[in-house]
Amino acid sequence: MNDSTMSQRDRIYVAGHRGLVGSAIVRRLRVLGYENLIVRDRTRLDLTDTRAVDAFFEETRPDFVFLAAAKVGGILANETFPADFLRKNLQIELNVIDAAYRHRVRKLQFLGSSCIYPKHAPQPLREESLLSGPLEPTNQSYAVAKIAGIHLCQAYAQQHDFDAIALMPTNLYGPGDNFHPEYAHVVPALMGRFHEAVRAKADEVVVWGTGTPLRELLFVDDLADAAVFLMQHYAETEIINVGTGQEITIRHLAEQIADVVGFRGAIRFDAAKADGTPRKLLDVSRITALGWRPSTSLAEGLRATYRWFLEHESERRGLQTAYSTN
Ligand code: GDP
Repeated sequence: MNDSTMSQRDRIYVAGHRGLVGSAIVRRLRVLGYENLIVRDRTRLDLTDTRAVDAFFEETRPDFVFLAAAKVGGILANETFPADFLRKNLQIELNVIDAAYRHRVRKLQFLGSSCIYPKHAPQPLREESLLSGPLEPTNQSYAVAKIAGIHLCQAYAQQHDFDAIALMPTNLYGPGDNFHPEYAHVVPALMGRFHEAVRAKADEVVVWGTGTPLRELLFVDDLADAAVFLMQHYAETEIINVGTGQEITIRHLAEQIADVVGFRGAIRFDAAKADGTPRKLLDVSRITALGWRPSTSLAEGLRATYRWFLEHESERRGLQTAYSTN
């Protein structure tokens, strides 16, 4: 077994385990029998605090790290809080990647995002397109921070021979998402809005933009499956895309979500709201060639997400009062 192969006895730190991605990675690792998982919520460890992160690595000595902690949000959150998105993400990445290297972590995996590719890069988006043109203006701060995180991984790999890989997941959705009506991503935002409309017996729901943008959506448990797979089978410094290779218009997506929630009224598009980038589809040929593919259809994933939404209604109400950063 080589040094960067995870075994069930290894200590594995999942940073961001309360978030959409981190919680799915923890679920996946547990299913696969990894029991030595290390997690800390933000009340116990502030990842933007360099000294606290260093002390945490000194104390816990993880062998493997999944860096899924980030400040994330939808199009409006990104436009409203650009300084927060830039500062917090840079701090988290720098603190965790540097501490992992210095405390001899055997392998680290960093989660990037498909929205950091240039706005007009050819679609489907290939890994080589990173940094080949201007970014989508609505989420530039987040993108610049995530690009810096990828470069940290590559620079530490090059200069220090540190085993650090970076994944580029497409748009994600699933259990554990942030369902804030204004600041969430499109799937949870619309699920919440349709749900409220059914409850209030409203006959119309407003969806932002023109309905024409195309998005690729990956169920987060499939992403977690890919994350564990790549930790075991991928060791290159080149980033690697993780997606389904399939896309859907926002209009069609809204109709599918309405169907899952049971909303039978009208869907109205508000073209005064931002569409964001017109299309965002990943080229998934590299991960496909390694032998990985997703297993959950959009319909199944939306149903599972809505079940989770209904089961966590009371917690969600609490969360919505304070905009969560993860
Ligand atoms: P993006 O992929 O970074 O643009 O992330 P989003 O999930 O925020 O938005 C995806 C698309 O869904 C954009 O074209 C939005 O205009 C559209 N959209 C429609 N309704 C909503 C909504 O209620 N919330 C969000 N976040 N996006 C919406």
